[in-house]
Amino acid sequence: MSTCLVTGGAGFLGSHLCDELLRRGNRVICVDNLETGSLANIHHIRQPEFVHLNLDIIEPFFVDEPVDFVFHLASPASPIDYLRLPLHTLKVGSHGTHHALGLAKKHRARFLIASTSEVYGDPQEHPQKETYWGHVNPIGPRGVYDEAKRYAEALTMAYHRQQGVDTAIMRIFNTYGPRMRPHDGRAIPTFLRQALQDQPITVFGDGSQTRSFCFVSDLIRGMIALAESGIHHPVNIGNPDEFTLLELAEAVIETTRSRSEIVHEPLPTDDPQVRRPDITLARELLGWGPEVELREGLRRTIDDAGVEALVGATS
Ligand code: NAD
Repeated sequence: MSTCLVTGGAGFLGSHLCDELLRRGNRVICVDNLETGSLANIHHIRQPEFVHLNLDIIEPFFVDEPVDFVFHLASPASPIDYLRLPLHTLKVGSHGTHHALGLAKKHRARFLIASTSEVYGDPQEHPQKETYWGHVNPIGPRGVYDEAKRYAEALTMAYHRQQGVDTAIMRIFNTYGPRMRPHDGRAIPTFLRQALQDQPITVFGDGSQTRSFCFVSDLIRGMIALAESGIHHPVNIGNPDEFTLLELAEAVIETTRSRSEIVHEPLPTDDPQVRRPDITLARELLGWGPEVELREGLRRTIDDAGVEALVGATS
């Protein structure tokens, strides 16, 4: 049995990671101050091998018992959250990552950071390979998230190169599934919420911009495979099936058998036009690939989360 510390363990991805690590027989220490996460995501976990510490990792934090793996996921992740919390986002990416890396160094633990496809910005290379350096506006409103993650990657490599910490960098592309918050502003929970209530589906711009959507169980499988590998350079984990936002809206309407119409709203600033991972590295080095296609993932999201949770009462 390994002991895994998960920062952001009460969030969307973090809580699924905690579930899977426990299912595989590990002990899990979840460190989360509930800034954008929720106790509801972990309240079903009643094993003695699980502990939640309500700590803000922007401040130094310590754990006495030995730790084998540090999974560093804590960060606002949806545009609504990081635009509301710009300084917090920069601090958790910088100070928070520094503290999580320091903890991994002290315990000689393997460290994995949940980075993001946003490090590629509005990409000029398509699909995006890990070798692409990105096209990010550092002073735009989204820059707080993109640059926090780029800095966090630089910090991670510095700890690896100079301090000998065993690090991994996972570049996560859009992921969806149960436990996403209905009002978190990301396309799939927003479209599902609107479709399930037969309300207009709000597509930004003309809807020709593309995204690639990975179901959460595929993502978590990739995350654990990367943690268990000895790889130090960044690895993309995402589903390379690419959809326009209009195609996504149509898939949601079809899956929910909704009567919703599609309406258009202005594009947010610096919204990427295209996004699709090149997952050659993950396939070759980890033997990883996604298994759940979009319509199946949408159905599972509805079945697992339940309509009530997806519709949500408040923002
Ligand atoms: P989330 O907001 O659901 O989870 C983040 C968690 O971090 C929350 O539980 C929050 O309370 C916690 N947190 C934030 N600041 C903290 C702090 N200072 N101290 C302690 N805990 C703190 O987001 P998510 O979608 O689960 O994303 C998890 C990670 O994966 C993030 O780092 C995000 O950047 C990355 N990521 C997610 C996606 C995606 O599609 N979901 C895509 C790319 C990258």
